[in-house]
Amino acid sequence: NPLGFSKSALEAINKACLKLNAYPDGGHIELREAISARFGIDANRIICGNGSDEIFQILGRAYLKPGDEVIQSEYGFLAYSLVAQHQGAKCISAPTKDYVAQVDAIISCISEKTKMIFLDNPSNPTGTYLSFEEIQRLHKAVPSNAILVLDAAYAEYANNNDYSAGLELAAQFDNVVMTRTFSKIHGLAALRIGWGYGPQHIIDALNRVRDPFNLNSLAIAAGIAAMQDTEFVAKSNSHNKLWLDKISEEFTASGYKVIPSVANFILVEFVSENQANDFDEHLKANAIIARKVASYNLPKCLRISIGTEEANLLLIKAMKEFQK
Ligand SMILES: *Cc1c(COP(=O)(O)O)cnc(C)c1O
Repeated sequence: NPLGFSKSALEAINKACLKLNAYPDGGHIELREAISARFGIDANRIICGNGSDEIFQILGRAYLKPGDEVIQSEYGFLAYSLVAQHQGAKCISAPTKDYVAQVDAIISCISEKTKMIFLDNPSNPTGTYLSFEEIQRLHKAVPSNAILVLDAAYAEYANNNDYSAGLELAAQFDNVVMTRTFSKIHGLAALRIGWGYGPQHIIDALNRVRDPFNLNSLAIAAGIAAMQDTEFVAKSNSHNKLWLDKISEEFTASGYKVIPSVANFILVEFVSENQANDFDEHLKANAIIARKVASYNLPKCLRISIGTEEANLLLIKAMKEFQK
C-alpha cells in the first residue's frame, strides 16, 4: 500500500511493545472479534494465520495427502502449488481465456481425486476477477468432499457491483472457505496477518492443526486497530481507483496491452519477452521496480503496482520516454 498503513495500528504496536514478556493470545480472540464486528460474521468461524499463506498451508496439512488433486486456475497464485507439493498432492491448472479464470475449464478438471480448489479472486498476477454469479456456478459443481478456497486478498480494491469476496458462500456451505489478508490494503505485509472464514467443522480442524501461537502480539494488536480503521481503507481504495484508471488509460493510449485490473496493480503484456525485459530495465534506470512474472509462465508480461502519486507520475513519464 503506497499510503503506508493505519496510524492507529502503529500506536497499538507501540503499546503492545510494553508487554513483550507475555505470550500472545493463542486464540486470537480480540482480533477475531474485531473482524467479526467489521463484517457481521460469527467470530467462532474465523481462523487467523501468519499471513493467509499460513491458512493455505494449514488447509493443506489438514486435508491433503499424497495422490489427492488440487485445482487452480492457470496463473493462479504460486502459494497454491507449493501447498499441494508439500503434501505430495498434484496441482492441476485450468486454462484461462484472456487472462480470466474460466469456470467451465475448472469444472472440467474435477475428478474423484479433487480435494481442494484454490481461486484467487481478484487474481494475482492478472488483476482480473470472476463475478459472484460465476463463483456460485463453480460452487454448484464442486463435490461435497472437496473444499473451495476463495482467496480474496484484493477484495477491498474490487469495487465492481457484481464482485463478492464470497463471505455469503462460506457462511452457507459446508465446503467453502474464504481467506483475507492484512498484507494488501491494510499495508501490514511485514507483520504476517491473514484470516479465513468457513464452516465450523473446517475451522475446528484447522485450529487443531495450526501452531498454538501462530500470530505474535504485535501483529494481533496492529490487526485489531487496522480492522477498525475503515477510513484508512476507504482512502487507500480511492487512491488506488484514481491511479489504476489513470495508469491503465495512459498505457493503453500509448499502445500497450493492459489487462483490465480490479486490484492494486496492472499486468502489461508486451509484444515479446525482449521488449518486456527492455521496459523493465528502463523502469529500473528510472528507480521504478516492476515485477517480472516469468515464474507464472508470463515472460512477455510485467506486473506494475500502483504507487504514490510521485511514483505513478514517474512511471507514466518513463513509459512515454520508452515509447520514443
Ligand atoms: C498477497 C497475496 C496473498 C496474501 O498473502 P499473505 O500471506 O496474507 O501476505 C494471498 N493471495 C494472493 C493471491 C496474494 O496476492
